[in-house]
Amino acid sequence: PYDVLVIGGGPAGASAAIYAARKGIRTGIVAERFGGQVMDTLGIENLIGTKYTEGPKLVASLEEHVKEYNVDVMNLQRAKRLEKNDLVEVELENGAVLKSKTVILSTGARWRNVNVPGEAEFKNKGVAYCPHCDGPLFAGKDVAVIGGGNSGIEAAIDLAGIVKHVTVIEFAPELKADSVLQDRLNSLPNATVIKNAQTKEITGTDKVNGITYVDRATGKEHHVELQGVFVQIGLVPNTEWLDGTVERTRFGEVIVDKHGATTLSGVFAAGDCTDSAFKQIIISMGSGATAALGAFDYLIRN
Ligand code: FAD
Repeated sequence: PYDVLVIGGGPAGASAAIYAARKGIRTGIVAERFGGQVMDTLGIENLIGTKYTEGPKLVASLEEHVKEYNVDVMNLQRAKRLEKNDLVEVELENGAVLKSKTVILSTGARWRNVNVPGEAEFKNKGVAYCPHCDGPLFAGKDVAVIGGGNSGIEAAIDLAGIVKHVTVIEFAPELKADSVLQDRLNSLPNATVIKNAQTKEITGTDKVNGITYVDRATGKEHHVELQGVFVQIGLVPNTEWLDGTVERTRFGEVIVDKHGATTLSGVFAAGDCTDSAFKQIIISMGSGATAALGAFDYLIRN
């Protein structure tokens, strides 16, 4: 069996694997897609000590750093079930069952869907989630951003520099984004904010041609013609497969203590899949280190 088995290959998982392997213990890492969200990230300017890098470049150096150590890297493998017996057992989609004395969950998060007609149909045909990745595809076109939180307003500011016009659609009567971001957006000539608006449908034929929303104050339906819709209403943790195992918040985030331990002994967690206050690369890396040291501490006591 492994001493430490890490599930998830983003910054949290990479950090956990390196910290574990440096203790000279048997370490494995399973990743559906090594790099995680960082693979979808363009410019990164807040990884302290690195003024500027780009997602795929950071992922390549994470991979290189992990491979510097004796770590079993199992990329393109998805975990589907966890069970605690004498050892912790993790079953993969391909049927294999891995056994380990400790497990570190670092399965990260994914974009939240708005779940309206048209969203699934027009995914990659006008419906997008990553402004950094897909923004340039809408150069000179009209787009909407659904969601007025920090990620929505950041996306709108970013897109305004590329597209012809951005319409932000926020469900609540007020934007939730930081006021500095709101001020920045309001200073832009080609951005409009519609508050108190419920998105009803993303319309189109072979690709997106508009969005329909209901003004929640009047109940009146409106249609805006545009070519792209960016959904920016938050992230969902990739923890559904853990049903009935570790305790999670009502948002599905794995609850951890300050050693990264979950409610199931021998199982630790780190990064965006946990109830950490903020979701960032450096925070994920820090919590991955914490979870690995927590797991090591557990191993020497049990
Ligand atoms: P993730 O990066 O989500 O990695 C999760 C890993 O788990 C992946 O390898 C995934 O394939 C794997 N996985 C999931 N489910 C399973 C399963 N069942 N079995 C096996 N493997 C599984 N942060 C910053 O600090 N600076 C930025 O500039 C920045 N920009 C961002 C831009 C975008 C577009 C996005 C999406 C995020 C950005 N972030 C940024 C946030 C940052 O990327 C995340 O906080 C960070 O990647 C979280 O790391 P993680 O390891 O917890 O999870």
